Amino acid sequence: MADCVFCKIIDGEIPARMIYESEDAVAFLDLSPWQTGHSLVIPRRHVADVLEDDTVLETLAPTVVEVAKLLKSKLGATACNIISNAGKDSGQEVFHAHVHVVPRYPDQPGLKHLRDGSEVDLDEVHAKLS
Ligand code: AMP
Repeated sequence: MADCVFCKIIDGEIPARMIYESEDAVAFLDLSPWQTGHSLVIPRRHVADVLEDDTVLETLAPTVVEVAKLLKSKLGATACNIISNAGKDSGQEVFHAHVHVVPRYPDQPGLKHLRDGSEVDLDEVHAKLS
């Protein structure tokens, strides 16, 4: 896709710090890492986000696992957060599907900072989903 920054990375038109490549997917370091080694796994074919079709997550999964192993073995990460923003209101900024693989280290565990402190009615949410 002409204006897609991640398609340009795949085509070699703009540089990226590649860390892993497979037939269907590539992985490279995020330019603005949340943690040391924060990487992105993207499909070679252009898809706007991981919910755009039924197969893209499946396509990315083996590369996500390989990248997580790499981050653990080479950087000493003890865990990873695996996140994909799908759609504008999720915070997605680049509309070529990608999975964030964020290595985590013992000195800064968890995602507690994601909580905004507001009350949530779990029964109401459950009722909507059941
Ligand atoms: P998202 O908010 O889920 O769309 O995440 C997009 C991510 O892509 C952000 O974390 C950016 O830092 C990252 N990003 C944008 N452009 C580049 C680039 N040229 N190379 C590496 N990472 C990038």
